[in-house]
Amino acid sequence: MFDAERIRRDFPILSTASHGKRFVYLDSAATSQKPKSVIDAIVDYYNTYNANINRGVYEISERATDAFIASKEKLAKFIGAHGIEETIYVRNATEALNLVALSWGERNIKSGDHILITEMEHHSNIVPWQMLAKRKGAVLDYVKLTHGMAYLDMEDLEAKLEKSPKLVSVTHVSNVLGTVNDVKRITKLAHECGATVLIDGAQSVPHMRVDVAAIGCDFMALSGHKMLAPTGIGALYGRRELLEAMEPVLGGGDMIRSVSMHGATWNDLPWKFEAGTSNIEGAIGLGAALDYLDGIGMDSVREHEQELTRYAMDRFSEINAVSVFGPPASDIENRSGVMAFAIKGVHPHDVATIFDREGIAIRAGHHCAMPLVTQLVTEKALSRMSFYIYNTKEDVDRVVDAVGVVKRIMRIKD
Ligand code: PMP
Repeated sequence: MFDAERIRRDFPILSTASHGKRFVYLDSAATSQKPKSVIDAIVDYYNTYNANINRGVYEISERATDAFIASKEKLAKFIGAHGIEETIYVRNATEALNLVALSWGERNIKSGDHILITEMEHHSNIVPWQMLAKRKGAVLDYVKLTHGMAYLDMEDLEAKLEKSPKLVSVTHVSNVLGTVNDVKRITKLAHECGATVLIDGAQSVPHMRVDVAAIGCDFMALSGHKMLAPTGIGALYGRRELLEAMEPVLGGGDMIRSVSMHGATWNDLPWKFEAGTSNIEGAIGLGAALDYLDGIGMDSVREHEQELTRYAMDRFSEINAVSVFGPPASDIENRSGVMAFAIKGVHPHDVATIFDREGIAIRAGHHCAMPLVTQLVTEKALSRMSFYIYNTKEDVDRVVDAVGVVKRIMRIKD
């Protein structure tokens, strides 16, 4: 049985108070909180086997290497990759997306080629393509949104696929709208047109069962810190043949097989893309985070978040002054636990500030998705709450009470 109250107790930060009140954390789309098992795994590494990996012959270095590789094996299994060769460790989803642009893109995108992304992308899945398109003289196309800007317009996608883009890069879950895109169908359509497909999994992998083989995508980017792991560790999944054919972006230690005065040859995957000393503590923390999530089961994670989202949308529907963006409650199957909302007549920063005083952490702003948010609202900013395993219906009730406080302070009538 899923027990969010019990899960909550595994997260030391959630037993702290905020402004004298029970702390309600609703900003997991920005970064998740960390369970004690993850914190302990990192502390244990530094206390008992801190050493560099992949080269030491002594006991603790071998232990650290084993833990690093075990982390990769867990991640490969978690996302359905074939093995550790297909999981490149990077700093975060942003770096993973940039790695595709700088390596695959540099070689495969030519002048006049089309790159297709969507209007609901995070800046991390926009700016690297703008930079690449500028360098190469390529064209960057955007799939439009439809139905009150809640979904990708699949007709527009199909029309833009007729231009035979070399790359289609789409977010699995929008960090603003909460829309869960049908990435399996998008991948199939894009492959039929000869495109390579990159999925931004930053907001999906932490929250639902994601299987890169079932989706059929060529690349996927993800961030560890949004899925209970520390900051500074993320991954790029890539299909082995594609990664084999790609050139490394960074040169240095570990990524080579041999170096002479005149040149170098590259190491095997995944090390070819991991120059220099890795984020060992991050990888160990990610391994512990994956164990924790596996212990709950990703289907249960998803179910819990859907239940909270349904409950929150239901409660918000009682308040006329509040509007919620993204798919409606009736389409919870295609919604994640990310909820951007607006309170009529109140700037989102005021909302977030008043919420903070009520002990509730939410985010306000453009959510690194300016092309989307500027189309959604004239203020160019939205309030956003986002759920994870440690949130409860009581948290939602606290939010509804805090909306009441906002309305009182700002003198908003329903
Ligand atoms: N893509 C999406 C959809 C995101 O929500 C985020 C983080 N907000 C990113 C990419 C970038 O993640 P990071 O900052 O960890 O690189």
